[in-house]
Amino acid sequence: MLCMLRTIAVIGLLSLLNVQRPASPAATSMTPIAEAYVKLVLAMGQHDPDYVDAYYGPAEWKKETDAAKLTLDAIGAKAGALAKDLAATAAPADELEGLRRQYLERQLSALSARVRMLKGERLSFDEESKALYDAVAPTHPASHFQGILDKLEKRFPGEGPLVARYEAFRKDFVIPREKLDAVFQMAIRACRERTAKYISLPTSESFTVEYVTNKSWSGYNWYQGGYRSLIQVNTDLPIFIDRAIDLACHEGYPGHHVYNALLEKHLVRDRGWPEFSVYPLFSPQSLIAEGTANYGIEVAFPGDERVTYERNVLFPAAGLDPAKAPAYYEVQSLVEELSYAGNEAARLYLDGRIDRAQTVAWLERYALMPADRAAQRVRFMDQYRSYVINYNLGKDMVRQYIESKTPRTGDATAARWKEFEKLLSSPRLPSSLR
Ligand SMILES: [Zn+2]
Repeated sequence: MLCMLRTIAVIGLLSLLNVQRPASPAATSMTPIAEAYVKLVLAMGQHDPDYVDAYYGPAEWKKETDAAKLTLDAIGAKAGALAKDLAATAAPADELEGLRRQYLERQLSALSARVRMLKGERLSFDEESKALYDAVAPTHPASHFQGILDKLEKRFPGEGPLVARYEAFRKDFVIPREKLDAVFQMAIRACRERTAKYISLPTSESFTVEYVTNKSWSGYNWYQGGYRSLIQVNTDLPIFIDRAIDLACHEGYPGHHVYNALLEKHLVRDRGWPEFSVYPLFSPQSLIAEGTANYGIEVAFPGDERVTYERNVLFPAAGLDPAKAPAYYEVQSLVEELSYAGNEAARLYLDGRIDRAQTVAWLERYALMPADRAAQRVRFMDQYRSYVINYNLGKDMVRQYIESKTPRTGDATAARWKEFEKLLSSPRLPSSLR
């Protein structure tokens, strides 16, 4: 990672300055704290294999933390001490510095919460999401979802469970396995083209797509640093046509890949802020990451542009009947309204109020997931727990934030992209979206 050299030099210089300064807490720069935070996140990776989602900072920091083998107690104590050091730093000079301080404070507090969880402390679903992701998902009664299901009942009249009738309808929209890669590559090009029109992407950015099996998630972006991502697509279950744009935008452009690349460019390289070279999965940053990745689909394809593009390009490429595209998306937009049923299922399940089989049944009934997909979702809940809120609550919070900042007059599309790019390049966390 040749391009990290400049960052390392800046960090080295700042640490040196800090050592030579008189020990006045108010004069302490945030960067040494940030460096210590990065090392704590790496140390957590030794206790929790899912914790470190990405790291592209100095390799010696990783070696150093691997050798130190800190216990959870030691990590917790260090996180507490760092939070105190952070509180004693000088008042932020501008908005971005303020966001940086808040970022470090919240990320450290989430790290401490994760330490307590790994040590066996049980938090309720809402306590956990607040502690880890800086947000709590709204609660909806079953009757809320029933209202949406009633509309779908009218759309798919007949006998038996609604989920079976919905699945029968969806059969015509599966991308055949042999066409999957061609369709994805096409979707990626379309998302990239639309993103590059409004956001200046680093010239060397790129990503690779791999197809994998036996995972609890449907897609994953492993950011490698140097503006490169590895995107994995899980092919355990049939992949429907809407997943092409979803995954291409969410994992790629303007989603995770762009978010990571812009953080690397603006914060790690330009400013020398090392904390953004590591990404702890169970932290508030994940709500911003998943929320922007999901809302980014609407930013790239506003209004009916998505249906038009899919009907004209992706449906034919996948060998599907283009005439059916509008009906498919009409149904999908109703089903999308059921997304919070997934959060309810997770809340009930993780709070111990329903068991695994009841959770699968809840997802089939209220989230319209067939049994195999519902079982995959419960496996996801086992592994990632309250992380589930980051997708839909994150999307809604990001949408609200961007729309509140977008003027009603003039070129709304360009204005929305501008605010979106600003968010993707900043340390902003969930509680400062409100
Ligand atoms: Zn994601």
